[in-house]
Amino acid sequence: MITRRAGLGLSMAALVLGALAGTASAQTYPDRSITLVVPFAAGGSTDLVARILAQKLTEQMGQSVVVENRAGAGGNIGAAAVSKATPDGYTLLYGTISTHTLNPLMAKKSAYDPVKDFEPVALIGNIPNVLVVNPSVPAKNVQELIALAKANPDKYSYASSGVATPLHLSGEMFNAMAGTKMAHVPYRGAGPAMNDLVAGQVPVLFDNLPSSVEFIKAGKIRALGVTTKTRVAQMPDIPTLDEQGLKGYETYSWQAIFAPPKTPKPIVDKLNAEVKKALADPALQQRLNDLTMTVTFSSPDALAKFVQDQLALWGPITKATGVQVD
Ligand code: GLU
Repeated sequence: MITRRAGLGLSMAALVLGALAGTASAQTYPDRSITLVVPFAAGGSTDLVARILAQKLTEQMGQSVVVENRAGAGGNIGAAAVSKATPDGYTLLYGTISTHTLNPLMAKKSAYDPVKDFEPVALIGNIPNVLVVNPSVPAKNVQELIALAKANPDKYSYASSGVATPLHLSGEMFNAMAGTKMAHVPYRGAGPAMNDLVAGQVPVLFDNLPSSVEFIKAGKIRALGVTTKTRVAQMPDIPTLDEQGLKGYETYSWQAIFAPPKTPKPIVDKLNAEVKKALADPALQQRLNDLTMTVTFSSPDALAKFVQDQLALWGPITKATGVQVD
């Protein structure tokens, strides 16, 4: 029979052993490949930046960082999977404002808690969003699109990379402020949405700017406005939606790395240091800058606070749109 005192001693021993095992595994970490889950389809901005970073981390860490696309439900599926993964540093999430702010706020019932069910690793950067159209759409600016959409409510639907993404929110904010009723067509990410926009299957797309940059430059799609408060330095010819009559309009996206809850702190700290080193590389900085991303690297604690601030900031805004997703 185990006495209470002995039982306590045993559980203390288990705790100490567990902590020691965590330290030991952190010392040899990583000793095999790491999976970085991208919760959107290939070709979107989440996938684009995650792959650039994964390649750099692979070079630095001497183990492969492999991107795995687990798309669907506006990022919810991939995020939920990582929140339940083994907390050993070998499964990570490349999260966004969708997985850690908008989806939890807009879902009738979220599959995870964005604060309690993750260990924040590092904030990566901020990105603008953009309103783009197929070149056959006879609108050269936002007011012309509003007039077209009002005159042909059945013809002008808008695509996005999924429900409760900043692109879905951008579309609903546009409808509310412009008085249009464009229907939402959600995809599994901006990659497949862009294919349909270029092919003319859908006339309008709200996208993260990084995944649209090349298509805009090649003239395959036309940009009508950026969603940020001020113009984007890398593409200064695109006016904001605000300056085209939608006063106060603002949306944006951000990206960050998260680990499953209870991932040992030494592993989180090691990952944070590796991300810091990767983002300090001038060539990598240039690539992200060309994609219109502003790097905003942070500590794990600062990312934890950032997520809470974002939830507080977007709570009333998402409530005001009245949009809820299943
Ligand atoms: N548009 C992004 C993608 O398809 C996801 C939306 C976001 O959370 O920013 O990768």
